[in-house]
Order: sequence, then structure tokens, then C-alpha cells
Amino acid sequence: MVKKCIYCGKELDNSCVVDVCEKCGHSVWGPIMFSAIIRNMEEARIKGDLDQGSVFENEDIELQ
Ligand SMILES: [Zn+2]
Repeated sequence: MVKKCIYCGKELDNSCVVDVCEKCGHSVWGPIMFSAIIRNMEEARIKGDLDQGSVFENEDIELQ
């Protein structure tokens, strides 16, 4: 299954944690917010792999 950006349809890497490409993510959220979202999603996924149930324990997003 090919993962695609929900905004422009660009193909995404399967390891990508969001369904949005970097370019669209930057225009929607801005580069700082987008990278914070990505980081949070990756952390959540790592935690989810280790301990299902506490995925959203850490919800604080750092803004510069
Ligand atoms: Zn896109």
C-alpha cells in the first residue's frame, strides 16, 4: 500500500508518521509546528510499541 499526502497526493515513505508531506505540512502548520508534530507522533509510536495504552501520555508540544 502506498501512503500519500492528503493534500497534494505526493507519495510518502511508509515510515512517515503523518499522511502529509513535508511541503504541505509546512504550509499548513509551519515548519516549527510540523516538526513538533512529527516528533510527538514518533515518540508516541515508540511508546505505543513498548507499552500499548500510554501512547498519549506526553502531549506537550514544544514551540521553539
Ligand atoms: Zn503534500
